[in-house]
Amino acid sequence: MSRTVLISGAGIAGSTLAYWLGRNGFDVTVVERARAQRSSGNPVDVKGPAVDVAEAMGVMPRLRAAASRVERMSFVDAAGRERSRLRLSAFQGGAGDREIELARADLAAILLDGARDHAEIRWADSISGITQDSDGVDVVFENGAGGRYDYLIGADGLHSNVRRLVFGAEAGFLRHLGMYVATLPVDRAFGDEREVVMFNRPGQAITVHPSKGKAVAAFMFRHDAIPGLGHRDLDGHKRLIAGTFSGPIGIFGDLLDQLKAADDLYFDSVSRVRLPRWSDGRVALLGDAGSCLSLFGDGSTLAIAAAHTLAEELTRTPGRPHTAFAAYEQRHRKLVEPRQRGMRAASALMVPATSAGIVVRNAVTRVIR
Ligand SMILES: Cc1cc2nc3c(=O)[nH]c(=O)nc-3n(C[C@H](O)[C@H](O)[C@H](O)COP(=O)(O)OP(=O)(O)OC[C@H]3O[C@@H](n4cnc5c(N)ncnc54)[C@H](O)[C@@H]3O)c2cc1C
Repeated sequence: MSRTVLISGAGIAGSTLAYWLGRNGFDVTVVERARAQRSSGNPVDVKGPAVDVAEAMGVMPRLRAAASRVERMSFVDAAGRERSRLRLSAFQGGAGDREIELARADLAAILLDGARDHAEIRWADSISGITQDSDGVDVVFENGAGGRYDYLIGADGLHSNVRRLVFGAEAGFLRHLGMYVATLPVDRAFGDEREVVMFNRPGQAITVHPSKGKAVAAFMFRHDAIPGLGHRDLDGHKRLIAGTFSGPIGIFGDLLDQLKAADDLYFDSVSRVRLPRWSDGRVALLGDAGSCLSLFGDGSTLAIAAAHTLAEELTRTPGRPHTAFAAYEQRHRKLVEPRQRGMRAASALMVPATSAGIVVRNAVTRVIR
């Protein structure tokens, strides 16, 4: 008899899990809050263990076709003069030149396409109620329907809905790391197709990242947590960024004009998610929902690797969720925890807090190059 699984979130983790569980004979439903797939977003990586998983899914040719050609990051001043440069291959994750970078939404869409033969997708819906007993999980959807499943997996990102409903309010698990990030598509890159350009002021950074003839700008800035600032308050975010980046920013000035006009702005705090356990009965968390690294780690790589591990363990011990979830957590924590410990060092490299820090970073990256 086939086992039923509901996955909340058709992102990177949820789509990968849907593929593997569907392929292994599970009856899979995915509920996704968005109305449809998008095709843009921040560049993310498929590195290290995720490359083997993607190859086994047969999606590597499509991922390669969607990949950016970025090879280096140039640290520049406000006039665009290069101060230092870093080869991005210095951060390779063990799969050498098989590793790629592509837009987050493109990655999720390609992974989900792979899962379509194996899973039913419910777009524009979300879970509003969860109750579980020893044999299953009862779920109510916002659109009014409901269902009972053998397992429920929360793969619904940093602000996970399943985590809130089963484990409690996010304030208990989510730690603001003293920084915010906003990204938006912009009309031009600042270097060639192989170059990410970064400009720093103390505690602030602007990057422009080319990908497939398009570009994405990111504004990152150190700031204590701002109480009451919702992650969907578009006008509030624009005001905050414009105020933070006021003053001379040279060739990057027109990005603020594009920001003012943007309706496709990603904005969030840079946060780490840590929970003492990733499962409760028949419910488990996956990807950013359980262990977010934000932009300073290999979040997309780890989401793919985690989904594969969870599918393996659920397949290995059908009908024994405690055993499967414990084995998944034990295996995957070994990968995630060292990355979470490295988040502060990565943020110091990308967004030095002081002028002296910027000088030191540039000197260090000159040596690494
Ligand atoms: C600015 C930025 C830059 C980054 N750069 C990199 C990088 O260079 N390299 C890297 O490896 N990682 C990077 N990351 C991290 C990476 O994007 C994440 O770790 C990765 O996307 C996590 O995958 P996920 O599937 O867990 O979550 P997501 O990709 O966030 O997917 C979650 C899904 O759940 C859906 N959802 C949300 N709420 C609900 C709900 N209530 N009901 C149903 N569905 C819901 C969302 O719509 C989404 O489809 C970056 C992140 C950010 C913010």
